[in-house]
Amino acid sequence: MMTTIIDGKAIAADLREKVAQAVSALKSTHDIQPALAVVLVGEDPASQVYVRNKGIATEKAGMKSIEHRLAADASEDDVVNLVRKLNAEEGVDGILVQLPLPSHISSSRVINEIDPDKDVDGLTEVNAGRLILGKDGLVPCTPQGSVIMAKTVRPDLTSLNAVVVGRSILVGKPLSMLLLAENCTVTMAHSRTADLAAVCREADILCAAVGIPRLIKGDWVKKGAIVIDVGINRVEEGGKSRLVGDVDFDSAKENASAITPVPGGVGPMTIACLLRNTVVAAARRRGVGEID
Ligand code: NDP
Repeated sequence: MMTTIIDGKAIAADLREKVAQAVSALKSTHDIQPALAVVLVGEDPASQVYVRNKGIATEKAGMKSIEHRLAADASEDDVVNLVRKLNAEEGVDGILVQLPLPSHISSSRVINEIDPDKDVDGLTEVNAGRLILGKDGLVPCTPQGSVIMAKTVRPDLTSLNAVVVGRSILVGKPLSMLLLAENCTVTMAHSRTADLAAVCREADILCAAVGIPRLIKGDWVKKGAIVIDVGINRVEEGGKSRLVGDVDFDSAKENASAITPVPGGVGPMTIACLLRNTVVAAARRRGVGEID
């Protein structure tokens, strides 16, 4: 059996191209240029890199990128006031607050100030509620990217047993809801799950979002399963630093029919889905219909 290595870079590039086409259609038919505002508080080096990459990708897709930087000692009210200002700005379609925020600021308060229709990370309580209720909303990017990847190898996921390991607000829970919406039978596993190996062995689609390097072993993977590895873990091996997933890729690929690598799997999909959410938000807010 040949195992498909699901190429996140290629799928993300396709998605970015589709977004760019939708942006150019919005421009030519409605004279709209979607705009994404990113708020960065403090000097965290990793966050600065993420924000820069998001800005570049936004502009490459033909959208406007607006960056707001606040000092590390900005107060919670400063950040909330900036978010409120961006909510009120007609030309801003998406608002993203880069996490983590400095520890003196409540990220949940700040996030929930974002207008849900501009919440391109899909993290507000309103968008979480819409996802559970099956209403149109903005869906968190990493889970959305995970489902898109699974559907490249199996367009109809109906009736499959899906196991999601990890129940975080950012990944595991929304991913479970999306798979349920795809008509999978979903099991949510976590740190208190009894006999995780046995639960994983039942999965036709096995998704790992844990944050433990190579937790999921090859013999936990059912023959023919689709494996989506969301984990990004830095490990030191043989004197070198490298990224590995939550799945032991080499042994898992012996059993899987398709598997995402790390790096080059779910990671690249996250920004592509952010761009997608921005153009979706722009079209909805400005009343010009739905983007496919
Ligand atoms: P969290 O730390 O928020 O959640 C981890 C989850 O894993 C928790 O639900 C926890 O269970 C569960 N867990 C912990 N240990 C075990 C165990 N031994 N067995 C089973 N479940 C366990 O992490 P995130 O969801 O934010 O991220 C998960 C991974 O995905 C990380 O590696 C992160 O770097 C990566 N990530 C990748 C992104 C991308 O762009 N590809 C984006 C976001 C995250 P419990 O609830 O019981 O504590």
